Amino acid sequence: MKYILFALLTIYSFGMNSCSSARKAGSGLSFAPNVVVAHRGAFKKNQLPENSLASLREAIRLGCTGSEFDVHMTSDDSLVVTHDNHFHGKEVARSTYADLVSNRLSNGEKLPTAREYLLEGMKQTKPGKTMLVFELKPSIVSPERGQISAQKTVELVKELKAGPWVMYISFDYGILKKILELDPTANTAYLNGDKSPLEVKKDGIRGIDYHYGVFQKNKDWIKEAKDNNIHLNVWTVNKAEDLQWYIDQKFDYITTNEPELLFELLNKK
Ligand code: MG
Repeated sequence: MKYILFALLTIYSFGMNSCSSARKAGSGLSFAPNVVVAHRGAFKKNQLPENSLASLREAIRLGCTGSEFDVHMTSDDSLVVTHDNHFHGKEVARSTYADLVSNRLSNGEKLPTAREYLLEGMKQTKPGKTMLVFELKPSIVSPERGQISAQKTVELVKELKAGPWVMYISFDYGILKKILELDPTANTAYLNGDKSPLEVKKDGIRGIDYHYGVFQKNKDWIKEAKDNNIHLNVWTVNKAEDLQWYIDQKFDYITTNEPELLFELLNKK
């Protein structure tokens, strides 16, 4: 019995130690110890296409704690990584995957699927890794299609064992609730800016990830989130003085098109 207790304590203290050197999410994977989340990957400085595998790889190379990407579901239930409702003039939600994939990204890459994106992100070998911030877009067809996309997403993440890598974010509260119904351990954050930290906490959502204007109007939500262990993320902050404000407010994450600039500000201290 003593030995079992000793072994358990050893495992526990090891876990606590590694927690202090890098941040953890989900079931214990360690992410780079900074606040930098590259918005649609680190695309801007090197003029890469947004939401490309190349922009994800650049975010990982920079050592960002997270890299965000946008996912829509096609009419034949494929999950594809792209921001807009349209891709080369075709409506993503009302096109098949085959319809869309005939067009390329500006760097010649194929339109990535969520599967390809997650697999690319999971190939990382650095000790401080980059979290995959998976934005599931609301369906423009119907809320029901949104629910199906949530189900397909959780199935994919489970199949790939990608859970520890993923933070799910969405503007559609119903999508986040569906994800949590299917995987109560899922790391989720809400984007739409219309719920207080206490409201999201009640539904098991772990974070708020709001437009910077929302935090300017509701400054009390910053303290409320910290007091209630709701993580704070903000989008999309690109100017040095604004980035500095969110650094000073000790946000957990800052989502930016300028990850290089944010690193410069963080390294000044
Ligand atoms: Mg997004």
